[in-house]
Amino acid sequence: MDCLFCKIIANEIPAERLYEDEYALAFKDINPQAPFHALIIPKKHISTLNDVAPEDCEVVGHLHRIAALLAKQEGFAEKGYRTVFNCNSHGGQTVYHIHLHLLGGKPMGWPPYQETLKVDPI
Ligand code: AMP
Ligand code: ZN
Repeated sequence: MDCLFCKIIANEIPAERLYEDEYALAFKDINPQAPFHALIIPKKHISTLNDVAPEDCEVVGHLHRIAALLAKQEGFAEKGYRTVFNCNSHGGQTVYHIHLHLLGGKPMGWPPYQETLKVDPI
C-alpha cells in the first residue's frame, strides 16, 4: 500500500522511534510544532477518523494511553500537553493514516486555529 506511515511501520522509511508494540508505533514528527512533538499510529491502516470501525475502538484508546506514557517519560505529564487527530482537509490532515499528535513542552494556547486574513483588493 502506498502509505507513508505504513512504510515507516515496515521500516522502509526511517523514523525516530519512541515506542512500539504489536498494535501501535510512536515516532518523532519530522517537522515539530512544539519542543516535543510525536505521532502515535495504529499498525492497522485506517485512513481517517471517519473510517474508525467499532473493532478499532480499543486501539484508538490505546494510542491515548501511549501519549500519556510518553508525556510521563518526557516529564511534562503534570504540566500538560495537547493531543490532536486532524481529519480531512478542514482538519489539516496531510497523511491519510490516522495519527495522534502529542505536543508538549510549552503552553499550547487555545483556540488552535487562526481566522484567515481577509484583505480587500486594492
Ligand atoms: P497531519 O497534517 O495531521 O496529517 O500530520 C502529518 C504529520 O506528519 C505532520 O506533522 C508532518 O510533519 C509529519 N510527517 C510527515 N512526514 C513524516 C515523516 N517521514 N516522519 C515523521 N513525521 C512526518
Ligand atoms: Zn497506512
